[in-house]
Amino acid sequence: MEIRGVSKTFHARGGQTAALERCDLAVAKGEFVSVVGPSGCGKSTLMMIAAGLEAPTSGDVLVDGRPAGPAGPKRTVVFQRFALFPSETVAQNIGFGLRVAGTPRAECEQRIGELLRLMGLERFRDAFPHELSGGMQQRVAIARAMAVRPEILLMDEPFGALDAQTRTVLQEEVSRLQRELHYTVLFITHSVEEAVYLSDRVVVMSRGPGRILREIAIPRDAAWRGLDIEQAGEHAGFM
Ligand code: ATP
Ligand code: MG
Repeated sequence: MEIRGVSKTFHARGGQTAALERCDLAVAKGEFVSVVGPSGCGKSTLMMIAAGLEAPTSGDVLVDGRPAGPAGPKRTVVFQRFALFPSETVAQNIGFGLRVAGTPRAECEQRIGELLRLMGLERFRDAFPHELSGGMQQRVAIARAMAVRPEILLMDEPFGALDAQTRTVLQEEVSRLQRELHYTVLFITHSVEEAVYLSDRVVVMSRGPGRILREIAIPRDAAWRGLDIEQAGEHAGFM
């Protein structure tokens, strides 16, 4: 995916906010890229534009070299606050995108089963979101996003609302899944440690208006394996 010269100005109540200014960012297939930066620097705006849910004021988003409007290549989003359908079961939530795409029933069932296993959600198949902990709900949101095999998975502070222990478990899980399944991920976080731990590359933004300050490649050599989040930050020379 390529974000090319994207600027965004919001017009609201007489005033206007320049949220992004000439942002360029390329995410290669199978790459995990994190975006960090202060509150209000435009991270979520950049992600909404990458997802095709918000139009840039100028600039382009391309996936596989094709312009990626709302109807373009498949991108799915995981938000900080789960955003599950409250009156649907876990299995129905996971199958949402498949149903919308008109996937045959048997194929839906098979894919839902795969994701329930992958995310450790089998026993919650018929539960409703309010019956689950925050961590479990976020697993459902991630499974739902992966169900349609998106070309790129966009995550906006997906662990921001979780307690520290649940966050650690999910960080490890997402890291493992991404390595095994080679997902292309654009990940937003407030935590530099989290970004370093999960990513191939960390993009640092500054605010007023949001610009990309610099990009840092994270080495993934043999010494990396088995490190925890804090050690990973030190290893990358970040902290
Ligand atoms: P946070 O870390 O707090 O989530 P962020 O980096 O995600 O912040 P954005 O939410 O992208 O920042 O906001 C960037 C700027 O754009 C802010 O000044 C914000 O007030 C403004 N903004 C975002 N969405 C809108 C909107 N729909 N209408 C008007 N202004 C907006
Ligand atoms: Mg945000």
